[in-house]
Amino acid sequence: MSIKLSNAGKMPCPSWSLEARTHCPASLVQTGPAKGELVDACAGCYAAGGNYRFPNVRAPRLHNAQDWKRDAWVADMVKALRFETHFRWFDSGDVAWLPLARKILAVMQATPHVQHWLPTRMHKFPKFRTVLAQMSKLSNVVVRRSSDSIQGDYDKRLATTSTIVGSVDQIDDDMVMCGAYQRDGKCGDCRACWDRNIKCIAYPAHGRVMLKLVSLKEVA
Ligand code: SF4
Repeated sequence: MSIKLSNAGKMPCPSWSLEARTHCPASLVQTGPAKGELVDACAGCYAAGGNYRFPNVRAPRLHNAQDWKRDAWVADMVKALRFETHFRWFDSGDVAWLPLARKILAVMQATPHVQHWLPTRMHKFPKFRTVLAQMSKLSNVVVRRSSDSIQGDYDKRLATTSTIVGSVDQIDDDMVMCGAYQRDGKCGDCRACWDRNIKCIAYPAHGRVMLKLVSLKEVA
């Protein structure tokens, strides 16, 4: 077994990822009549289709779902990040298991030279809150607790979060709009997602499935 990082074309750094949906327990509505259905943001997830279905893209994610269990995984991740300045956890997937979350915390603690960005929905599950809070206390880590909304809603009590917006009138003063889509889908020099002083990143809805979901919301 070995560390397999992925390079999303958009990002200025590598990522360690799992497969979307199958490793996103928080992608499902947890309570109420819609319990078990995909939340809006995950119903239009970019990582559930397109290139992410290709065998060469799936393979490292399926590998990672087992590889993190190795005793040497933390040490191997630390070594893999020795030359990085920034790192994104989960270009696809989420921190699906609590022992994985604890190992990621150990990697973060052992790599103070790396700025870590962890987007997650696992804060929905009370048992994850302690470890996510421990991560958030590290000066080299930004945990963005993602909103399920595709209409710009988010929990204003969260220090760092993100949401999807369907139109610019959903942007508020605490948000920074992701400009990647004005740069051919690339981050360029932007590092807003890693900036703990930015409360909420607003990602413009994009992709055929997501845009259809947004338009259905607008007429609802
Ligand atoms: S806000 Fe900036 S850093 Fe975050 S995804 Fe968009 S371009 Fe990249």
